[in-house]
Amino acid sequence: MAIIDTDIAQAKAWLLAGNVVGVPTETVYGLAGNAFNEDAVLKIFQVKNRPHFDPLIVHTNSLEKLTAFVASFPAVAQQLAEVFWPGPLTLLLPKSPLISDLITAGLNTVAVRIPQHPVMLELLAALDFPLAAPSANPFGYISPTSAAHVAAQLGTKIPYILDGGACKVGIESTIVGFEGTEVVVYRLGGISVEALESVVGKVRVQTHSSSNPNAPGMLQSHYAPRKKLLLGCPEKPADNWGYLAFSQPNAHIFPQYQRILSPTRQYTEAAKHLFGYLRQLDALPIAGIYAELFPNEDLGRAINDRLRRAAADAFVVE
Ligand code: AMP
Ligand code: MG
Repeated sequence: MAIIDTDIAQAKAWLLAGNVVGVPTETVYGLAGNAFNEDAVLKIFQVKNRPHFDPLIVHTNSLEKLTAFVASFPAVAQQLAEVFWPGPLTLLLPKSPLISDLITAGLNTVAVRIPQHPVMLELLAALDFPLAAPSANPFGYISPTSAAHVAAQLGTKIPYILDGGACKVGIESTIVGFEGTEVVVYRLGGISVEALESVVGKVRVQTHSSSNPNAPGMLQSHYAPRKKLLLGCPEKPADNWGYLAFSQPNAHIFPQYQRILSPTRQYTEAAKHLFGYLRQLDALPIAGIYAELFPNEDLGRAINDRLRRAAADAFVVE
């Protein structure tokens, strides 16, 4: 069983030995390995049961280190990096030969990010290689936002989980790529479209897998609980179903079967609680989960994206 602790030197030792470990970031917990070691990268895919067509994000702590593994860094990308790094923004940049095809699933771009978590930044600063790290959950399941979530699902497969507390953002990074002069959002996440547009002007949002060969990881069904999840709530809900609400409880559902993401309607608070509350509901003795959709603005968009993918095999109530 994995050891859960806060010892950065221990995490470093496991990584130097070619192992994969759980690491905290401000978005969700990652399953990290040496990005320059193909065996470590292979282990990441094995432990997660992740298909090899789904590329990994490479994490580092400085722009200086990053320039070694990207082939170019367009001005508009630099502008975004200046404003949002360290932070929940991933940039797709042309890769240098230092990055293996395993990491990029054969694409010629690599996804890179400087995360904003003091423990992760300290770990990265102590390493002379970047960390490839997808979310530390079995492929397709809800992403982990605490060390305990990682242990519950991958604890028997990895030696160490570096505990950095609860994730402050709680949903994955926004993924942005560049096509000619256009800035394209491939995954909605912790940086809102509005925030991006305040820096670079109009962006294009293209987050559907069918029309989106550039982001093979954006599968329609993802981030899913084991229970059936429906979007919206019927007027007469089934009495053995739970409810995930933005701010208001539903009078027709048992209070103990409900989770309220943000009573004061703060998107950041709602995002922070989203995956943890979904896990709690998933563990209750209920048949399914109704989930309220958010207004389509700010982080509400990314939250809706996660809820839709979690509900992908089901349908909308209203
Ligand atoms: P995860 O770290 O588990 O959130 O997954 C990383 C996601 O980043 C993948 O599922 C892809 O959608 C995306 N990604 C990583 N590298 C690339 C790339 N080179 N091009 C497009 N999307 C990428
Ligand atoms: Mg993931």
